[in-house]
Amino acid sequence: MKTPNFTDTFSNCIQHVRCLLIAMPIVIFFSVQVYAQEIASTSLLLHAAQIFDGNEMRNGVSVLVKDGKIAKIASRGSFEAGDASIDINLGEATLLPGFIELHAHLTFQKVPEDIVLRHGVTTVRDVGGPVHQPYGGDSSLRVLTSGQIITAPHGYPIVTMGAKDLAIPVASEAEAREAVRRLIGEGAVVIKIALEPGGEPGAPWSSHHDHAHHDVAHTVQADSRHHAHTAAHHQPAWPMLSESVVKAIVDEAHRHQRKVSAHVAESSGVQIALNAGVDEWAHMPCDLIPEPLLQQARAQNVTIISTLDTLSKCGGIAHNTTVWAELGGELLYGAEIAHPDIPWGIDAQELMYLMHLAKMQLPDALRAATAKAGQYLGIPLLGTIQPGAPADLIAIRGNLEQQLKRLEYPDLVISGGRIVVNHFNALP
Ligand SMILES: [Zn+2]
Repeated sequence: MKTPNFTDTFSNCIQHVRCLLIAMPIVIFFSVQVYAQEIASTSLLLHAAQIFDGNEMRNGVSVLVKDGKIAKIASRGSFEAGDASIDINLGEATLLPGFIELHAHLTFQKVPEDIVLRHGVTTVRDVGGPVHQPYGGDSSLRVLTSGQIITAPHGYPIVTMGAKDLAIPVASEAEAREAVRRLIGEGAVVIKIALEPGGEPGAPWSSHHDHAHHDVAHTVQADSRHHAHTAAHHQPAWPMLSESVVKAIVDEAHRHQRKVSAHVAESSGVQIALNAGVDEWAHMPCDLIPEPLLQQARAQNVTIISTLDTLSKCGGIAHNTTVWAELGGELLYGAEIAHPDIPWGIDAQELMYLMHLAKMQLPDALRAATAKAGQYLGIPLLGTIQPGAPADLIAIRGNLEQQLKRLEYPDLVISGGRIVVNHFNALP
């Protein structure tokens, strides 16, 4: 019989430490497998007084989460005990989709992803830093990247922060096309370019560059950067990509079904972006932009990422935002996480600027950070609470209208159906 042989062998073996070393990883492996399956099969039924479903506020509905997705959103009475393995009553809380931050620099500035997730942002588009294939979204921050910013040799941001992990200088159309292809091959979901001559009063990159100096690794370069920065107030504009090079970038990106996002802050960069057919402005421009240019941008269906909070000291922000809203231009939420004045998570102040300057109602501002942003990223139903959507959810106590700031410290965060933060009592 084979069994005694095996038993004997195993008995002999188990007296040997070496066998334990072999056995332990197997035991751990199977434990982890079982644990992972348990989590994956966990279903949650969430009841909250108010639910923002990505598009509108709703009352008296509950949400069923299964296998990492939203399975059902319907009146509380339509669910039965046993529909979910965990039933959570959030009471007077407001439940809403996790936020989507369309302008961040986590990797370059070493902002911890778990902190951003715990503060309500469940998806980040990193626009200026190392390129990666998209990852996360399953109890971790979902991260999409543009990779390095394509710019002119000695252009922004190289002139203030260096090129390492941040920028790719290109001197010709051929180099530009090659850079676009490489970035997309390595996972870029959007192509980011800089059209920044420098010197706009109030812009973080014009007035000071504190954020670049926190990193010890950059200290060696600090002197030269300081020099460049100090000189910027007196010297001619930083070099910018030519219109023909930007056209090549846009063409190459569109061939690969990617949009191009331009850092623009004043009229000359805006003009190049418009002439070359750039799809998106990574910021509301800092300087006042003449209305005809904004009208042209609207006619070309440009999308603008807000970043109003970090640019609030700029002279043109209020004008540009108000005119853009009046023109009916698309304005999506982005706060520029990693800038020193911006929280590492949801920025409630950004929502307030969207409401005050773009005259958005609260649901409009929330939509710009959830359903509209998810649709813009092309991830089906991301940023909504609809059947089939990724179960990325946050909840805050009480009524959202009276306490937007609470969004920065959510009481519940769920990523891909898994609970990451839970400040509600008596919950698993
Ligand atoms: Zn930025």
